This record gives sequence, structure tokens and C-alpha cells, in this order.
Amino acid sequence: MLRSFDIQSLVRPNILELKPYSSARDEFSGSASVFLDANENPFNAPLNRYPDPGQQELKQILAGLSGQDVENIFLGNGSDEGIDLLFRVLCEPRVDNVITVDPTYGMYGVCAGINDVEHRSVLLREDFSLDVEAVLGAADEHTKLIFLCSPNNPTANTLDRSALVEIIDRAQCLVVVDEAYIDFSRGKGVLDLLKEKANLVVLQTLSKAWGLAGIRLGMLFAHPDLVKLLSGIKYPYNLNALSLKEAMDAVKRLDQAKLWVSTILEERDRLAAALEALDLVQEVFPSDANFLLIKVEDPKGVYQFLMEKGIIVRDRSSVPRCEGCLRITIGSPEENRQLIETLEKYLKS
Ligand SMILES: *Cc1c(COP(=O)(O)O)cnc(C)c1O
Repeated sequence: MLRSFDIQSLVRPNILELKPYSSARDEFSGSASVFLDANENPFNAPLNRYPDPGQQELKQILAGLSGQDVENIFLGNGSDEGIDLLFRVLCEPRVDNVITVDPTYGMYGVCAGINDVEHRSVLLREDFSLDVEAVLGAADEHTKLIFLCSPNNPTANTLDRSALVEIIDRAQCLVVVDEAYIDFSRGKGVLDLLKEKANLVVLQTLSKAWGLAGIRLGMLFAHPDLVKLLSGIKYPYNLNALSLKEAMDAVKRLDQAKLWVSTILEERDRLAAALEALDLVQEVFPSDANFLLIKVEDPKGVYQFLMEKGIIVRDRSSVPRCEGCLRITIGSPEENRQLIETLEKYLKS
């Protein structure tokens, strides 16, 4: 369904009125040989220079990789920056609200709290599927954002594409689909729908499949009007020169990332089978991500035992729908072997 969607009507009045800060590098972006405009130190090249605030070179490469246009891409200091800026562009504190579908990534709710914005939580069904009517039923005229994480953290499942599309089509607000784990999924995600769904925002990241959590680089794909608004309120130089350089090098080595992903997928299958064979494991949930959610009899005991042996997993047992569950990241073949070996000892302890 193609429909017009007025993003401006969702934006906070103060943001619409804002005249963004204009840096030296914004005002002149051509090529020159003598730069005396930004009060930089002339020595210590290349790090003496401020980085490109518009990150054009990296965006062009990412546009090619994603099949999107540069105008559709916002780059942030991790996906977390994009999430926080969405709140600041759209949500009036104490007036507006956002919806998350839980259990899910904690940052959406934390950002709502920081920004003093009401957070409405809808539960996934028992089988971790999306209840479209419950999500839409929680929305009202003050709902600005609906967060959907697919594949979802911590439940590891990809959300049904037709359910996602139905929410995007029927919602009167922006719908953020967080695809941090999409490279590990059997589903293809929703980025291909960006051009026809003006209220769709897709988050991806270099932190997982690309192995670059340390450089903090998140990608937000959205309608050009929204990208402009986000770019207008970000810190001018939100991505530093070292991160930009690393990212540019990495995205040129697509084959490396693909190899890592296929190794992780093989290990995911092997680890799932090995865990299923253990008596202490009651259930290994199907995974479309680079982690497994497993149910055990005594999650705290298993967590503690692993920790004492120097292996840290995530205890999710106090999260609704994840009772009894631990979340385990797929490690290297050697790390996964150690995990299984240690769990076999737990059985005998
Ligand atoms: C890991 C993760 C991210 C990545 O966040 P960055 O800030 O880009 O490192 C985003 N969303 C979800 C659901 C995640 O689990």
C-alpha cells in the first residue's frame, strides 16, 4: 500500500523551528589545498582535521551495499544514537508515548525514560510472535514511535514479515524495525520496503556481523525528510575520524564479513545440537541471530557455575516470557567447545 505520510506533523515544534549549527566543514565542502577555516592545528595530519560531518564517502559505499540512496542514510555513534535522536526529534516529554514489544532490546525503554516519554509495553505472544492488534491497540494520537526488533533480542526469532507490514501500513506513527541481527536471519528484512513506506525506519549496525562493536557505528535508514531532521540535531562530528576510517576499510572487505557470518551460522547449528543433547537444557529456541536463547531448570545456578569457570552468559530469567532462560552468544569454535565441556561438568557437580 502506497500512502502519503506527513512526517512533519509528528515532529516537535521546537525541532521544526530549529536552525541547525553550521560548522566550518558544512559551509565549505569543495576541494582546496589550504584550510584555514576551522582553527585546526596544521600539524599531526591526518588526525588534526575535523572529520566530514556528513560522512559522504562512507554513506556512498553503504548506499551501494544496501541498495538505498545516500539521502536515506543517517549514521550514528552506534544504533543507540539513532534511537535517542528519534526520541528527541519526535517525542514531546510528558505528552507523547512510544510502544515496545517485549521482551526486547532494553535501550528503547531506557531512552524513553531519559527523555521523559511514556513507554507502553506490549508482550509478544507465548510463541514469541507479534500480536498485531495488541500493538496497534496500544497506540493513540500521542504515539510517535513503535519499536519492533527483528530478529528480536533476546528471543532470537525473526518477526513475521506480513505482521510487520501490517503494523507499518496501519500505524499513524513511525515504525522502527531494528535489524541489528538481520545478517544472521533466514528472513530478508524490510529494508526493500523503505521507498514505499514513508513511516518506516530501519536500524542496522556494524556491531554484529561486521565485527566492529568497538568503533560504534549504527546505520539508520529512513525517509529523506527524517534523515535531514536527525542530521540537524546530531553532534556535528558525531562519528570520529578513526571510526570512519575503520568502517570504510571494513565495508570494502565484504567477503571477510560473509565468511564470519557463515562460520557463526555453522557454529550456531552445532552449539544448538550440543546444548539440546544436555539433560540440563529443557529447550533451545530456534535462532535467527548470533545467539541462542535456552531454557534450563536452574538458570541462576547455571549462570553462577559458568561464571566461576570464567564463562559469562546473559541471565534473562527475570524477563517476562523468558522465565528460566539464558542468552548465549555464539562464540568461536573453541569458546563454544569450552562452554559445552563446562556445562557437561555442571551435570556431574
Ligand atoms: C546489539 C544491538 C544493537 C547494536 O547497537 P549498536 O549501538 O549499534 O552497537 C542494536 N539493536 C539491538 C536489538 C541489539 O541487540
